[in-house]
Amino acid sequence: MSDREGLSRHLGLDLGGTNVKWAVVEQHGASQTVIARDQVPTRYASEPQDVPAAIVAQLGDVARSAAAAWGPIASVGIGVPGQYDPTTGCTRFLPNVPGPWAGLPVAGPVGEAVGVRAFLINDARAFGLAELRLGAGRGASSMVGLTLGTGVGGAVAVGGRIHHGHDGTAGEVGHQTIDPDGPWCHCGNRGCVEAYARADQISAACGTSSVEEAVRAARAGEPRALQGLAAAGRYLGIGIANLITILSPDRIVLGGGVAAAGDLLVEPIRAEIARRVTMTPVHQVALVTAELGTWAGAIGAAVHGAERAAEA
Ligand SMILES: [Zn+2]
Repeated sequence: MSDREGLSRHLGLDLGGTNVKWAVVEQHGASQTVIARDQVPTRYASEPQDVPAAIVAQLGDVARSAAAAWGPIASVGIGVPGQYDPTTGCTRFLPNVPGPWAGLPVAGPVGEAVGVRAFLINDARAFGLAELRLGAGRGASSMVGLTLGTGVGGAVAVGGRIHHGHDGTAGEVGHQTIDPDGPWCHCGNRGCVEAYARADQISAACGTSSVEEAVRAARAGEPRALQGLAAAGRYLGIGIANLITILSPDRIVLGGGVAAAGDLLVEPIRAEIARRVTMTPVHQVALVTAELGTWAGAIGAAVHGAERAAEA
């Protein structure tokens, strides 16, 4: 709840396939601070059709215990790994979590569990919002965030705000076509950035079993790993160059586990930007590494809840 000094606390939940992370963000005027965070393993039911109900109940339980320890809280934001309906607070499609998620109320029951309003946000947009407000995107007017991991998630900020589009799906930078005849992507399109730059594709191109192993091999000078990472960086760089041409952002934030490849990806990305961006001064575009690590999703969800509740 807000008190007379304008101090309020906001809970963020980040639903992942392995863990549910949460964070409490304290807001004092324009300043936001993370005061608590933790995670628990995601609760699965034995039958896939029962998984969504088990997870929604778990989100309510996690919200109740976090609010009891760190409340009172004024809002809840919930980051979900997929698509949702921003007006109803129902999920539409979560590609990596089993069970029937279409049309399932999530924001409503979680909000009821703690007696405050709850709002959904896509987990990659939550990452972008957290970096924009509390991380590597602080102070940027326009920002593109990419979270590189199992997939290539993204977020676009314009005028200091994350752009969600009319239905909450804006920012899918990983699903832009960069090769019309390229490999099939999980989204159903072919030749997406993600079809080349998701973790399993990078490790396959490098002849390794993981991106971590690919990075070790590349640092040891192994040619196939060097080439595989350079190719992934090139495809990412083409996608980022498109975004720079369209948006002229002042900040590009690279996050997610695959971003730990560092210069092995960043150098080819910079080379593509230099080669392809002709309409905007690229030296004014800062390409930086995310600062909030795996907590960005929960933090961004908390910030989203705070901002939506303030608008309501
Ligand atoms: Zn795609």
